[in-house]
Amino acid sequence: MLRLVRLAGCALDLWRMRGATMVALLERLKIKDVNPGACTGPDGWIADPRGERLDSFNPATGERIASVVQATPAAYDSVVQRAVERFRTWQMVPAPKRGQFIRDLGSALREVKEPLGQLVTLEMGKITAEGWGEVQEMIDICDFAVGLSRQLYGVTTHSERPGHRMYEQWHPLGPVGIITAFNFPVAVWSWNAAIAAVCGDTTVWKPASAVPLCAIAVQHIVNRVSADHGLDGVFNLVIGPGTGVGERMVNDSRLPLVSFTGSVIQGRRAAELIARRLGRAILELGGNNGLIVTEDADLALALRAILFGAVGTAGQRCTTTRRIIAHRTIAADLTRRLVKAYEQVTIGDPTKDGVLMGPLVDEQAVEATIAALDTIRAQGGEVLVGGRRRPELGPCFVEPTIVQMPRQAPVVREETFAPILYVMEYDALDEAIAIHNAVPQGLSSAIFTTNLLTAERFLSAIGSDCGMANVNVGTSGAEIGLGFGGEKETGGGRESGSDAWKLYMRRQSNVINWSGELPLAQGIEFGS
Ligand code: NAD
Repeated sequence: MLRLVRLAGCALDLWRMRGATMVALLERLKIKDVNPGACTGPDGWIADPRGERLDSFNPATGERIASVVQATPAAYDSVVQRAVERFRTWQMVPAPKRGQFIRDLGSALREVKEPLGQLVTLEMGKITAEGWGEVQEMIDICDFAVGLSRQLYGVTTHSERPGHRMYEQWHPLGPVGIITAFNFPVAVWSWNAAIAAVCGDTTVWKPASAVPLCAIAVQHIVNRVSADHGLDGVFNLVIGPGTGVGERMVNDSRLPLVSFTGSVIQGRRAAELIARRLGRAILELGGNNGLIVTEDADLALALRAILFGAVGTAGQRCTTTRRIIAHRTIAADLTRRLVKAYEQVTIGDPTKDGVLMGPLVDEQAVEATIAALDTIRAQGGEVLVGGRRRPELGPCFVEPTIVQMPRQAPVVREETFAPILYVMEYDALDEAIAIHNAVPQGLSSAIFTTNLLTAERFLSAIGSDCGMANVNVGTSGAEIGLGFGGEKETGGGRESGSDAWKLYMRRQSNVINWSGELPLAQGIEFGS
């Protein structure tokens, strides 16, 4: 049977933390007690002794930093049940009041931005500045959601029938499943959860198995805010494998919407299962992001954008720049400058100042990178810089790599989740756009040009086929204000800003007749 564990006095032996850093971080996050990986609120940590352990590692050192008890099927069930029960009352809380809860969540996140960002670095491996950036995104989306809580607008329109009024309104949808990828251990949850909460939904979060500690830390923060509001069950957590807990979620008709962030291969499977039960899915899947550099581009600007886009997060962003399509007249110059910049990238401990690139997430990712480089060479790619693993730095380090690549090589069509950048050349703009669009994914794209006509063509219907298209801005590093997501195999989902909130609500069309007559639409006469 399940055992509900109160936080006070909860056994510490569930986590085996090494090193003062981790202990100090947890203290700064005000996490005194450590818990199993399922939770429904302040007093809702669930310990099921049958739950399997999940170890979490620091990818920079290979050191184990935590051991978490994963949710069993019974624990999963009671978490979802709690989310269902809470939804009944949460949906009736006025939206601006729901916004106050999110405003306080944003304040709580501001207080812990530094240690939470450091925890992201420690568990996922991105450099500290990027870890903090991720928490800043959480704060930003909370701000956005607070404003949104007073702007869940529906439209009104005029009826063809006299004495009738027509309008649309948006109702809360239900408990929402959130399945997230390892590379944004906290921000992607917030894009979904903050918006879903002001929309009147409750959420059940399954984080990636590489980063359970970040999720548990977030749940602690959420729990403190929930306790202040006398709430539980709005934000819920279940930690477990994709094939176990993840598949349970996509098959669970108690979750009318599942927001899935991850690879195309797993997203496709999730989408099929959700569709089978006629559920709703938000799919945020892999990217293969291209950046065109024209003959008139500001090369210094392009260089900086490419460096951040291709090397940032060690090439493990969905929006990572993976393909440079450079005009033949500037390609050699740009490539030479890029190679020089790559040679100066400091790789190493992501917590250290001056380090630009940390480790990959695990040793499997290193193996995949090395295998991809073999394929790249076999398909005619010439490695210009990088291309090696760096075991002396730790188990998960590789060098950022630039490859001169034949554009028709099949491997270019794949997303290799590593810091590998392909450079290809073009002569005419339409050719560049064709090369750009010739991949199955459609997330983020960019062009560097000083020519207005070129920029407009890239942004036009016959330009980039991606969900996001930028001019003189790189492919990665989106703000929260716009809808985030991509086309084609990236899945078509939109999250975060703009009107992405509509996906978390159900639309109702209403007609009110105050005429005292019963005219039928389309002028139909039926009986007398
Ligand atoms: P992944 O597909 O291996 O896992 C993603 C999540 O899905 C994890 O929580 C995992 O446990 C879960 N999962 C796996 N199999 C499942 C199944 N059958 N049913 C339900 N859940 C399942 O991806 P990853 O390696 O964690 O992340 C990297 C990938 O995510 C890359 O392809 C990257 O481009 C993509 N990504 C996309 C976006 C976006 O917004 N488009 C953002 C971040 C990452």
